[in-house]
Amino acid sequence: MAEKIGGLHIQYYAVCKRKLWLYSKQISFETEHERVIEGTLLHENSYKRKDKELMVDEYAKIDVLDSDYIQETKLSSKMQKVDELQLLYYLYLLKKRGIEKRGKIAYTKEKKVIEVTLDEEKETMIKKTIAEVYKIIDQEYAPKLKKLSYCKSCAYYDFCFSIEDGEEDAT
Ligand code: SF4
Repeated sequence: MAEKIGGLHIQYYAVCKRKLWLYSKQISFETEHERVIEGTLLHENSYKRKDKELMVDEYAKIDVLDSDYIQETKLSSKMQKVDELQLLYYLYLLKKRGIEKRGKIAYTKEKKVIEVTLDEEKETMIKKTIAEVYKIIDQEYAPKLKKLSYCKSCAYYDFCFSIEDGEEDAT
C-alpha cells in the first residue's frame, strides 16, 4: 500500500524535491528554529480560535476554524505559494471524504489573512502534485543536490553540503 502523505510532504515537494525524499526516508534533522516548526508552535497562539482539529490519514492535522473554513496559521507570507499548496491539499483530502470547505491562511507577523479555494483547476493541480510526490518518494536514491536560496535555512543543510558539492540552481 502506498505511504500516506501529509502536509509536510506537500510543503517539501514545493520547496525542494531532495528534502521531500530525505523526509520520506525518515532522515530527520529538524530543529526548533526551523520554519515548519515555527508553524507548529504557532498552533498554541492561533490568530483566531479554531473549533477543532481533524486528523486525516494520521498525517494531516487540519484546523477547523468554523463550519465553512479550515485554517493554517503561519509566521510570515515568505512562502505563500507553498502554504497555499499545503492548504489546497487539505481541502482536497476533505473533499474526497465528502466535506467541502474553503481555506484561510493567517499570517501573524503581517496580520493578514488570505483565502484559498479548491476550484477545478486547483484540484487537477493537486492531483498531479500528489502523483509527483509519490514518484519522488518511491525513487531508490535522493534527487540530485541543487543549491537553493532556501538551503541555508533548511535542517538538512549540513547533511547535504558536507557529503557532496552542490551545483548552483539557475532558476
Ligand atoms: S539543504 Fe537544500 S538541497 Fe538539501 S534538502 Fe535542504 S533545501 Fe534541499
